[in-house]
Amino acid sequence: MRIVLFGPPGAGKGTQAGLLSENFGAAHISTGDILREAVANKTQVGLLAKSYMEKGELVPDEVVIAIAKDKLESLGDKGFILDGFPRTIPQAKALDAALKDIDKPLDAVVNLQVDDEELVRRLSGRRVCPSCGEPYHVDSKKSEVEGKCDKCEGELVHRADDQPEAIRNRLKVYNDQTSPVLGYYEQARILRNIAACGDIQDIFGTITTALGE
Ligand code: AMP
Repeated sequence: MRIVLFGPPGAGKGTQAGLLSENFGAAHISTGDILREAVANKTQVGLLAKSYMEKGELVPDEVVIAIAKDKLESLGDKGFILDGFPRTIPQAKALDAALKDIDKPLDAVVNLQVDDEELVRRLSGRRVCPSCGEPYHVDSKKSEVEGKCDKCEGELVHRADDQPEAIRNRLKVYNDQTSPVLGYYEQARILRNIAACGDIQDIFGTITTALGE
């Protein structure tokens, strides 16, 4: 399995990537998670990325491309699910070139479609575990113990970029800079559009059917 999970912030990419990874044994690669870890560890990349991320802006292409390539190279023969990468046409082209070099083209790009009103509801109520990345929601996916991760007992946080102003900016950035990538994959005939509202397991079922798994 070599796929990209695509869609606006709040579409459920992280949740579905987690399920795909558990069920099919492919690596879940989230550039957002890698960058958040770099910010937490105050590495050089983290210090550079922090201000972009807090405002909901994209981190520069060359930084994110280097991160994604490093991660992909470390996988060997393992499959992967890319979550949140690529987000621009130059990133998509760099990914194609890197995968061509190792003769492992993408199988599919799964586009999770959700309307804007629902995205704002999901993002503003989202809580995440900073230790393991598991996502929760204050209404629709509560943790068993309030404020604690079910998987690793980490303290759940409300991300700075899940605050109203940053959410609005992230949706604008998605529409302006990221959605053109859809046309790129449509031309390559590997785009699969999925209606991603409703029950998480049902959406997962639709994705696996679309992938022919
Ligand atoms: P995410 O967790 O995927 O929503 O990513 C959180 C933030 O990390 C984004 O709002 C961007 O600031 C940054 N980021 C993650 N992936 C990328 C990417 N592929 N290109 C540029 N910035 C990214």
